[in-house]
Amino acid sequence: MARFTNRIGIITGAASGIGKEIALRFAAEGGTPVIADLNLAAAQSTAEEIKAKGSDAFAVAMNVTDEAEVEAGVAAVAAKYGRIDVLVSNAGIQIVHPFVDFPFSDWKKLTSIHLDGAFLTTKACLKHMYAANYGRVVYMGSVHSHEASKLKVAYVTAKHGLLGMARVLAKEGAEHNVTANVVCPGFVRTPLVDKQIPEQAKELGITEDEVIRNVMLKDTVDGEFTTTDDVADAVLFFAGATSNVMTGQSLVVSHGWYMQ
Ligand code: NAD
Repeated sequence: MARFTNRIGIITGAASGIGKEIALRFAAEGGTPVIADLNLAAAQSTAEEIKAKGSDAFAVAMNVTDEAEVEAGVAAVAAKYGRIDVLVSNAGIQIVHPFVDFPFSDWKKLTSIHLDGAFLTTKACLKHMYAANYGRVVYMGSVHSHEASKLKVAYVTAKHGLLGMARVLAKEGAEHNVTANVVCPGFVRTPLVDKQIPEQAKELGITEDEVIRNVMLKDTVDGEFTTTDDVADAVLFFAGATSNVMTGQSLVVSHGWYMQ
């Protein structure tokens, strides 16, 4: 039997990048991924791509910062499948500015997607996980859950916050057989990163190539980007864990950038 046979997994932000790869891989190993994303058209296209390969998938429109939409989306999944086994809280954005000029509106927008989104989706899924006495929650952190970089005060603060959220859930969820862990990738070439290369070049007054070599990959051991596949491996490792031995932990997948 495949690792995720009969498992239902909600993956937020799964219409693109890392989340999409996790959804594809979860389906390839027998699970039914729920593609929960702000962008419904892209979520539906990801679900169709998965169905074309012979697996089940379900697309749900969800702004993770909107409590009513999160509750409705999770309720729709529970009504359709009767269970929610896995939550991958992955939806995220990046906004870069120097701290001194960081617009408060951008701070609120970013921290809301990463933190309110993780909180609201977790809270909605937990009711179902507790009722079933089973759940695997994985938060998409970052090397920036442990490390800081210039221009990223909102992102670094939010990603550090997810470690705290996972640790609380690890303690509260234990008696319900619910684990919570954080995967912390280095830079991955997704639309989120492609957008920030020219933005960082402008803010730092260097070329885009210098942003890649001297900022993004500077502290890796081999100058390599992390891939969506690498990140999916780590997420599915936590999502498929057969015991509660790993909970409240974070796993850095980054070609050696930040060694714990
Ligand atoms: P991406 O831009 O390719 O995909 C992000 C997805 O999130 C998109 O489909 C977008 O529609 C969705 N989204 C954005 N706001 C949303 C909201 N309010 N509600 C629901 N969905 C929303 O980005 P990615 O690189 O795949 O990033 C995914 C996660 O991985 C993020 O949490 C990001 O911080 C994290 N991460 C990325 C990298 C990297 O280098 N790409 C590194 C470490 C961590």
